[in-house]
Amino acid sequence: MNEDYPLFAQDFTGRHQDADPGGRTFRAGRVARPDSRNGSQVVSASACRSAAARLLVAMLLLAASGCARGKSAPPPQSVHWLCMGTTAAVSAPAGQSARVQRLRETVGTAFAEIERDLSIFLTNSVLNAVNAAAGDPTPVPVNIHVAAVLRHALDVAKAGGGAFDPTVGPLMALWGFRSGSVTHPPAAAAITETLERVGWRHVRLDLTDPAAPAAALTRPGMRLDLGGIAKGYAVDLAYDRLRAAGDTDFLINLGGNLRAHGVPGAGRTGWGIGVRDPFHGDRILGTVALREGEATATSGNYERFVVLDGVRYAHIIDPRSGRPVTGVAGVTVIAPTAMQADALSTTLFVLGPEAGLRLLAAFPGCQALWVLDEQPVRTVSSPGFVMR
Ligand code: ADP
Ligand code: MG
Repeated sequence: MNEDYPLFAQDFTGRHQDADPGGRTFRAGRVARPDSRNGSQVVSASACRSAAARLLVAMLLLAASGCARGKSAPPPQSVHWLCMGTTAAVSAPAGQSARVQRLRETVGTAFAEIERDLSIFLTNSVLNAVNAAAGDPTPVPVNIHVAAVLRHALDVAKAGGGAFDPTVGPLMALWGFRSGSVTHPPAAAAITETLERVGWRHVRLDLTDPAAPAAALTRPGMRLDLGGIAKGYAVDLAYDRLRAAGDTDFLINLGGNLRAHGVPGAGRTGWGIGVRDPFHGDRILGTVALREGEATATSGNYERFVVLDGVRYAHIIDPRSGRPVTGVAGVTVIAPTAMQADALSTTLFVLGPEAGLRLLAAFPGCQALWVLDEQPVRTVSSPGFVMR
């Protein structure tokens, strides 16, 4: 595994980078061959093995964010820290150091709260209390965070025909994403056996009393893993708290799950987010501009993976086959909320562009870009996904 600390889903190695405006726009079905862009600062995953390196990289990457009208506009400033096994950041217009520190306090508290409740790596998390009781049909009390994330996860699971599945935990373990001890791909029989313990339909979420939600996994050995959605929820929680406090003009980032408000400074039009070229860590495919309150998330095959018998497997598993997804290198989603963007990026990675575009129609305000895992590189996007 290319990861040295495991919480939630992935490290941040510049999957999204703030970048200068300009460049190109890719539209649905068009074949695009991205080229190097001036002004972007991107570092490959292999260059970022340590937490310190990742932090440094993220700091460099976020240093020049926003879409400036004029070259003279000062870049926004950011503060970075490590959280949920990835890099967290909050940015605000230049010249607001004290304010950025205050934003970091609020955002950091929200992220820590979600990690405590939803991590599968913290034995005492609320989520793991549900996992520990798998097989017992009596629902275990959960809190509003777990209930909200699980509810959305089950909705997306249903809408996508099981492409997204919050019970993917046993498959993640089987394929070696939870320990370094797996060296060969699992046998077909082991996959079949594990699939018995996977399935969103075996989750009972009891919301009868909204003040006392509870959840149960009806089959023994089942295990919830909300790594494909929890970071998005954490970003939304932080966003809502900042807005409730009257804050404007900020960008929140948790491992490539971003949500923006306002502008990055005087003379700037909005927060511009670079979409990384999955094949060239030092390039971006283009820049997307987030509108007020919008979020973006990327799922990729290039940062977290295992190598089994010399073959590289991405950390997103198709729960219908029990095998890691192939054929897609990355999916970037723009959505009204970060939780939606996060869950959809994972779902659309599994579905691929054809079925994915059909599903996307059911999600108003959501757009997606697929980068297919082939050479020359080919991208497919929904008609409203605009990159400059
Ligand atoms: P990242 O977390 O790297 O940004 P994703 O949001 O796509 O990427 O989440 C991937 C994580 O989601 C995996 O590490 C695992 O915890 C979980 N996961 C893997 N496959 C699925 C799936 N089919 N449905 C739901 N969650 C998944
Ligand atoms: Mg996701």
